[in-house]
Amino acid sequence: MSNNFDAGRRRATGLILKTVALSSVVGLVKIPFALAQDLPHVEESDATAVALKYVHDAAKATRVDKMGVAAADQDCTNCQFIQADAGDWRPCMLFPGKTVSAKGWCMSWTKKA
Ligand code: SF4
Repeated sequence: MSNNFDAGRRRATGLILKTVALSSVVGLVKIPFALAQDLPHVEESDATAVALKYVHDAAKATRVDKMGVAAADQDCTNCQFIQADAGDWRPCMLFPGKTVSAKGWCMSWTKKA
């Protein structure tokens, strides 16, 4: 009786662990799509945005030449921290859970490798 109970408990535990592992993998696959599609746009009034002098329109920022890139050529699309290659609004590593304007800029801009 005890052996049957233990075997059943082991099977149940294994099934739970497999389900959790599979859910995690599926979740990881969905995250990039969900980020690009569903995350809110960062507001320029957001505390992090203010601290980093983020603006939706890079042309309105006070930029300087940096890392061999002219100020006028710097925006979120060619920054190391952008998390997608397409879309008007994209995830940025510095604004977790939100998206930034592809035409935006902040003082943490770093030339994409
Ligand atoms: S870190 Fe880069 S991608 Fe993110 S807001 Fe600043 S310039 Fe844009």
